[in-house]
Amino acid sequence: MSYCRFGRDSDVYMYPSALGGITCCACKLNPIADGLWDGSQSFSHMGALAHLQEHIKAGHLVPQYAIDRLEREIEREIAVRQFRHIQSQEVEGGNTL
Ligand SMILES: [Zn+2]
Repeated sequence: MSYCRFGRDSDVYMYPSALGGITCCACKLNPIADGLWDGSQSFSHMGALAHLQEHIKAGHLVPQYAIDRLEREIEREIAVRQFRHIQSQEVEGGNTL
């Protein structure tokens, strides 16, 4: 499911790419010629969030729900990493016997 698509509330079309990153499709910050835009740019979650800020700075419409979703996913990713880190420490501790 896309983060946002071109429409009345959005100048950005961003979606999770099949390769694992996040794609800014036909990005208006990446012109290749008048009226034409490069196919896509690929980002990490943090990169995508920073990229949306660039769109806002350029005066493009970026829906708040796209930013909210990216922030939620980043928070979840950090939480999962912290959980795995705690688990790995517990495993190390268990091996001291
Ligand atoms: Zn873009």
